Amino acid sequence: MSDMLKGIAASDGVAVAKAYLLVEPDLTFSKKNVDDTEHEKTRLDEALKTSEKELQKIRDNAAETLGESEAQVFDAHLMVVDDPEMTGQIKQNISDNSVNAEQALKDVTDMYIGMFEAMEDNSYMQERAADVRDVSKRILAHLLGVTLPDPSMINEEVVVVAHDLAPSDTAQLDRKYVKAFVTDVGGRTSHSAIMARSLEIPAIVGSKQITDIAHEGDIIAVNGIEGTAVVNPTEEQKSEYKEAGQKFAEQKKEWEKLKDAKTVTDDGKHFDLAANIGTPKDLSGVHSNGAEAVGLYRTEFLYMDSSDFPTEEDQFNAYKKVLEGMDGKPVVVRTMDIGGDKELPYLDLPDEMNPFLGYRALRINLSQLGEKMFRTQLRALLRASIYGELRIMFPMVATLQEFRSAKKIYNEEREKLINEGYGVSDSVQVGIMIEIPAAAVLADHFAKEVDFFSIGTNDLIQYTMAADRMNEQVSYLYQPYNPAILRLVKNVVDSAHKEGKWAGMCGEMAGDQTAVPLLMGIGLDEFSMSSSSILKTRSLMKKLDTTKMQELADRALNDCDTADEVIALVNEYAG
Ligand code: PEP
Ligand code: MG
Repeated sequence: MSDMLKGIAASDGVAVAKAYLLVEPDLTFSKKNVDDTEHEKTRLDEALKTSEKELQKIRDNAAETLGESEAQVFDAHLMVVDDPEMTGQIKQNISDNSVNAEQALKDVTDMYIGMFEAMEDNSYMQERAADVRDVSKRILAHLLGVTLPDPSMINEEVVVVAHDLAPSDTAQLDRKYVKAFVTDVGGRTSHSAIMARSLEIPAIVGSKQITDIAHEGDIIAVNGIEGTAVVNPTEEQKSEYKEAGQKFAEQKKEWEKLKDAKTVTDDGKHFDLAANIGTPKDLSGVHSNGAEAVGLYRTEFLYMDSSDFPTEEDQFNAYKKVLEGMDGKPVVVRTMDIGGDKELPYLDLPDEMNPFLGYRALRINLSQLGEKMFRTQLRALLRASIYGELRIMFPMVATLQEFRSAKKIYNEEREKLINEGYGVSDSVQVGIMIEIPAAAVLADHFAKEVDFFSIGTNDLIQYTMAADRMNEQVSYLYQPYNPAILRLVKNVVDSAHKEGKWAGMCGEMAGDQTAVPLLMGIGLDEFSMSSSSILKTRSLMKKLDTTKMQELADRALNDCDTADEVIALVNEYAG
C-alpha cells in the first residue's frame, strides 16, 4: 500500500529511490545473570572486532571524501576500541559479576564517561567522553545484532529518511548516492533545508511522520518542489513523479542559458545576485550557477567540521581559497555563528532553555570565552584580504555597542597585523547582519557606522514573529510576505541608502520567488541565496519592470493587512 505525505518543500528537485533510514535503532537491553561468562567474552570480542573493522572503513571513507583532518575523529574512536585497559576491564566485569556483555560494557564505559566529564573546563576530556559514548554505542549495537546508520557509508542511490538531520549529518551526504531526503521536523530555514539547497539535493522537511511510515528498503518518491512524497508508490505514481522530474530538468536547462548573463530587469536595472556558501567546496555550485558574488560565507562549518579550534593558518587557507576562487568578485564572510542549533564538541557552551535567544554568535565572540577565537578569525580574514574583495560581517548584532566593540577588536587586530609586516587590504568593508528586530528598527543609526547591511530573514522573521524556525508546529508564522516584515526590510534598505551604504539580504527570503518582486520594488541592492536559486531568480527578474515593482511594494507596505493579501497582490503584478 502506498502512503502519501505532505511536508515543507525545502529543496527543488524530484527523485524516486530506495529508503535509507538514518534512524537510531532500538538499543535497549536488560541485565542478565549468566553462567557461561566465557561465551559473553567471546561475544564481546566479536563485537569489538566488527566495530573496529567498521570504524576503519568509515575512517578511510571520511579521509577520501572529507579529508584527513576530518577523519581524525575516527582515529580517536579506533583508539577507544583498541584500548586494552578498557576492554580488559569489561571482561573482568563479566567474570566478577557473572553478567551479560551488554551490561558489563555499559558499566565500564559509563564509568569512563563519568570520569572524563567530571574534569570540567577541559575540552579535550569532554571530547574523550564523547568518543567513549559513541564507541560504546557501536559495540552495543553489534552485541544486539543491529546496525547503526551511517550516512558516509551509503554507496547506492537512496532517499535518506530521518527524524532530523544535524548539520554534521548533512555535510556527509554524497550527492552521487543521496537522491533526496525527507525529515519529520524542521522548517524552510532550518539548517538541514539550507544545506540541501546548497548541495542541490531535493528535500522535504517537517513531514511530521516519515520515520513512522517508511521502512528500510521501501521505495520513496519525493517532489521537493511541492513538498510531497509517496512511500511505495504505484507504477502510475512513479511515472507521475518521474514526469515532474523531467519537467524540472527541462526548466533547469532553460535557466542555465542565463549562467553568464548579467542580472538585469526588463527596464534595464541591474541587481547583484550572490550565493550563500558553507565551505570552499561550495564554490563549484557558485560558478556553475553564475553567481556575481558570495553574499554569505557561513564560516561556522569550518569550526564544526574540525575536532578542535581551527588554527589561524587553517582559516587563512580557507578564506584565501574562496577569495581567489571568486577572482575579484565580492565575498561577504560572516564571523562564526555558533550557538542556537550549532554546537562545537570542543567549546563548552552552557545548557540553555532557549538557545536561539541565548549565547550565540557575536555574543560568544564578545565574551571572555570567545574573544580569543574571534581575534584568530579576524586575523585570518585580514591576512586573506589581499587575495580578493573581502567584506566582513558580524551576525546577531542587537545593539550599536556590540557593533562598536566588535569593530574595536577588528581595528586592534588590523593594526597588529600591519605592525607585524603583513599585507592587509585597504578596501575591506565591515558590516552587520540585520537579523534582530532591534537592529532593524534602529537601522538609521547603525547605517552611520557600518559599511553595509545584510538582512538575515531566517532569524529576523523568527524573532519578529516569535516563532522558532526549527519548529514545524509554528512554521505557518514564517511569513516573509507579512507587511510587518516588509516594513522592517524597507526601513533597513532606506536607512542604508540615506547614508550612501548598500543593503543586501542573505536569508532564504532573498531567493523566494514571491518575495523577489517585492524586494526589487523596495530597492534591495544585493540578493544572496542558495546557488541553486540563482538562475531562476535571474530569469524572473529579467521579466519584471522596477517601476511597476515599486508600485507593488508601496501597495503591499501600505494597503495590505496580511501576508495572503500581499501574495495576491504579487500575483496581480508579477504572476
Ligand atoms: C539568517 O538568519 O537569515 C541567516 C542568513 O543566517 P543563518 O540562517 O545562518 O542563521
Ligand atoms: Mg541568522
